[in-house]
Amino acid sequence: MKCALSIAGSDPTGGAGLQADLQVFSAFGVHGAGVVTALTLQDSAKVHSVMPVFPSVALDQIRVLLADITPSAVKVGMLATDDVARMVQLGLANLGADVPRVIDPVLAASDGTPLLERRAWPVLREIMHGAELVTPNIPEAELLSETSISGAQDCERAARIFIEDFGCRGVLIKGGHSTGPPDDLLAFGGESGISFHWLGGERIDVGAVHGTGCALASGITAGLALGHSLERAVADARQFVVRGLLNAASLGNGARFLGPKDGQ
Ligand code: PLP
Repeated sequence: MKCALSIAGSDPTGGAGLQADLQVFSAFGVHGAGVVTALTLQDSAKVHSVMPVFPSVALDQIRVLLADITPSAVKVGMLATDDVARMVQLGLANLGADVPRVIDPVLAASDGTPLLERRAWPVLREIMHGAELVTPNIPEAELLSETSISGAQDCERAARIFIEDFGCRGVLIKGGHSTGPPDDLLAFGGESGISFHWLGGERIDVGAVHGTGCALASGITAGLALGHSLERAVADARQFVVRGLLNAASLGNGARFLGPKDGQ
């Protein structure tokens, strides 16, 4: 059995964050381990508040876990504060370089609530170093690369910054926030430079759906844990999210939830 680890914030609704990640791992047939970086109070409409864990508790969870279990892939999501992010970085230093890491650079919730304090951006960029993949949406890519994105060329320029300046091996810039077609850009470095792969997407108009970014990054992490190539892991996870959107269901009074997570 393969194990994937999610290091993320708790979302009591189960739509995003750690609870959602574990459901996605399970749907992919991968055992899910989880380290909590923050508690949140939230319902399907909004985040009411964020309570980061004591930074030492984030580090201790990772240390104790990794001393016993070596996951086959790790996903990093919401980090909340600079102190927690630094402890996560320290904890991950115990992880073998051969264990792929997927970083979802969560900056804010869809309702605008900040999920990472701004002074933590430098350490977030450091955590990206050596990661197999970083999965920003367009606003996150703009903020972290300090560029503005209004077309394919801008997107490729931002992707280059993630790979060349932040040192990640690959980046998936998610196009859902673009005004045009929601195509994603997958870029990764190779011996002959960076290759850019545009992955066509169709807008699925089902209104607000909670936790799509978390599900995509967890699906990719699960695929990598299973030993799949980055391209296959990305393709499978995108398909998983599309199926989830087509089957999205309302459980509360706010955003919908991705449809039944009943496996591949
Ligand atoms: N809560 C947690 C713990 C999250 O990690 C995220 C997103 O990554 C959210 C809430 C916000 O999810 P959404 O923007 O899809 O509502």
